[in-house]
Amino acid sequence: MNIILLGAPGAGKGTQARRLEERYQMVQLSTGDMLRAAVASGSELGQEAKVIMDAGQLVPDELVIRMISERIDEPDCAKGFLLDGFPRTTAQAQALDAMLAEKGLKLDAVIQIRVDEEALVERITGRFTCASCGAGYHDTFQRPAQEGVCDNCGGTEFTRRADDNEKTVRSRMEAYRAQTAPILPHYEAQGLVQEVDGMADIDEVTAQLYKVLDR
Ligand code: ADP
Ligand code: ADP
Ligand code: ZN
Repeated sequence: MNIILLGAPGAGKGTQARRLEERYQMVQLSTGDMLRAAVASGSELGQEAKVIMDAGQLVPDELVIRMISERIDEPDCAKGFLLDGFPRTTAQAQALDAMLAEKGLKLDAVIQIRVDEEALVERITGRFTCASCGAGYHDTFQRPAQEGVCDNCGGTEFTRRADDNEKTVRSRMEAYRAQTAPILPHYEAQGLVQEVDGMADIDEVTAQLYKVLDR
């Protein structure tokens, strides 16, 4: 199964993607994670992307399109993939259609995680991640069972993203409204869109997703 998770920054795409990966044997493809890895590596591409990401803007379409196209060609994606954070512009959505057609692949669903904007700043400014395994947490909504210890791997080091501050979040939300929200009609026209209520508890959202995808 090949699906897209759509939703504003902080909607819960990453959190849910990890759960869906296991249940449906799909690989999570997060362009945000790929870009952060490029930034951490200090490559030329990473240095270029960092400035844009820190400003809460979108990196150039060609760059993420190439990244995703190469990643989908890797053997582990043959069992199915889940796109998290891509496509984010109409140009990316069109490039994805063309790329999938060329590779003989298709999308099974596009899931929109609906959230109220007011909730997003709190979600994003409280977000942190296990430095060893990448498991996601939140200061209020998803604390580790034992303070300071990752539930998933026992790791004790956590990281926070440089762009998870209120000022950058506002720019990211603006980019979402202006550039990403307009791609919904593109997929509605293809009859692929399903919605879930992202304001529910994390487990409740997962249950809604299972219901949609089990069909
Ligand atoms: P995205 O990938 O869409 O940017 P994340 O999955 O990283 O969003 O979630 C953002 C933050 O909000 C994380 O700290 C996560 O633990 C928390 N979170 C995710 N889903 C929910 C939810 N349904 N209710 C409350 N907090 C949530
Ligand atoms: P979130 O969903 O929490 O906003 P991501 O991790 O998906 O965050 O993205 C972080 C940043 O990486 C974005 O603000 C943007 O600068 C860049 N980015 C990620 N995916 C894309 C994409 N498909 N197109 C352009 N920029 C992207
Ligand atoms: Zn961990």
